[in-house]
Amino acid sequence: MNTIQKIELETAKLLINGNFIESETQEWQDIINPATQEVIGRVPFATVEEVDAAIQAAQDAFASWRQTPIQARMRIMLKLQDLIRANMKEIAQVLTAEQGKTLADAEGDIQRGLEVVEHACSVGTLQMGEYVEGVARGVDTYTLQQPLGVCAGITPFNFPAMIPLWMFPMAIVCGNTFVLKPSEQDPLSTMMLVELAIQAGVPAGVLNVVHGGKEVVDRLCTHKDIKAISFVGSTAVGTHVYNLAGQHGKRVQSMMGAKNHVVVMPDANKEQTLNALVGAAFGAAGQRCMALSVAVMVGDSKQWIQELVEKAKTLKVNAGHEPNTDIGPVISKRAKARVLDLINSGVEQGAELLLDGRDVQVQGYESGNFVGATIFSGVNTDMRIYKEEIFGPVLSIICVDTLDEAIALINANPFGNGVGLFTQSGAIARTFQNLIDIGQVGINIPIPVPVPFFSFTGSRGSKLGDLGPYGKQAVQFYTQTKTITSRWFEDSHEVGGVNTTISLR
Ligand code: NAD
Repeated sequence: MNTIQKIELETAKLLINGNFIESETQEWQDIINPATQEVIGRVPFATVEEVDAAIQAAQDAFASWRQTPIQARMRIMLKLQDLIRANMKEIAQVLTAEQGKTLADAEGDIQRGLEVVEHACSVGTLQMGEYVEGVARGVDTYTLQQPLGVCAGITPFNFPAMIPLWMFPMAIVCGNTFVLKPSEQDPLSTMMLVELAIQAGVPAGVLNVVHGGKEVVDRLCTHKDIKAISFVGSTAVGTHVYNLAGQHGKRVQSMMGAKNHVVVMPDANKEQTLNALVGAAFGAAGQRCMALSVAVMVGDSKQWIQELVEKAKTLKVNAGHEPNTDIGPVISKRAKARVLDLINSGVEQGAELLLDGRDVQVQGYESGNFVGATIFSGVNTDMRIYKEEIFGPVLSIICVDTLDEAIALINANPFGNGVGLFTQSGAIARTFQNLIDIGQVGINIPIPVPVPFFSFTGSRGSKLGDLGPYGKQAVQFYTQTKTITSRWFEDSHEVGGVNTTISLR
């Protein structure tokens, strides 16, 4: 057994007006290592007064932050990306301890967020307005992309580095101030990133952090001084946040749950396809919003199912910090019970269990929340394992005869987050990308998360709101367009009389 780096028992601090402070709340929750059940920290559920103080600090800081030159804001991001890179290994250790994913995957989590920070270093070219000279005699029209004010972010447990970094760097580099509410299940690695942001020079009040659950989230959604809310998490909570914050006049983006399919055509490269399927279904113990949940085998590709199962059998289930681990634990005992309940439902509803990960034993980590790779075939669309997001290492297989059937199946599913297609035919790929109603499409790519100069997109039940996180869409989300139409009179201009009709230009 590898030695676990000892993580000091820590309380997650609030960050209010530049100060990391201990909450005065009576309500605390343990932060638990999902491989060992060791308590590694405690997180407060902040009081209403503390949430209000964080919002007030952000409101007070906005006046001067929005006037801070854009290059100065970008230079802080330049420093932040340097600090994150330098501290990546240390953050990954804490992330693995509190979230469970493998160390390599934890570094990937940080790296994906870091790339957004790198992109934030060049926001100047994205926050440019437009200008048309001479829309009428002596009249010019131009736009300003101005920051909104105080924005808030609410993040899920599965990417405690990447998703907070989707939000606060882009929001504050555009001139907004921010209140972040990290997942209460694994806030410690997020807090390390926040500490680096303060070290990088983010001024007091520009970035604030409160911890908690529904009460804190609802306060953010309803507070008069919050202008915009970014949410990433489950569909039920995301819909609640979207509706509540929308009713209170806020701009909202909700990125939510998923049921991602991959279509396997019989002309695909078999070895590459099967490797990709196994990695996408079982990596991060299936706890990615872009994890593969359903493999749709078209025509003769169904003959590869047994090989897929054999590959999945080779995956090593172990604690995330152990070398060569493929599948770490799921986040909590509750999450494990939910995954097992869904697997049991698949058996009861008549799916064929080709690989059963329910009774996996991990030596040295007997109390960890482990579930091994699980594969069902003969799945139909009425089964719970097809209808519900499992968020565990469970792959369902459905066989169809044609590409058209595969597309119809996927477009009828309520979720629209990610999809993949494996083929060697450009014509098939082109038809697929045109007809499929999913936000992120991978062609021979199983987890097509866009790089930060594009934006994360979702469709139907996976997203509410028009604009996605990071990239150009995030700049639009975090800014308000103001249109100026101006006339400067020259002395030589004729002075006209009063005109009461709309101008004919
Ligand atoms: P979750 O919805 O339980 O929690 C997300 C956030 O909402 C947390 O900060 C939590 O404290 C808060 N919250 C929880 N219950 C609440 C309530 N009743 N009212 C108000 N706030 C509440 O999600 P999770 O389990 O942390 O994360 C997993 C989910 O996130 C999955 O559904 C996954 O697909 C989704 N996800 C989506 C994306 C995406 O981009 N579409 C990315 C990552 C994760």
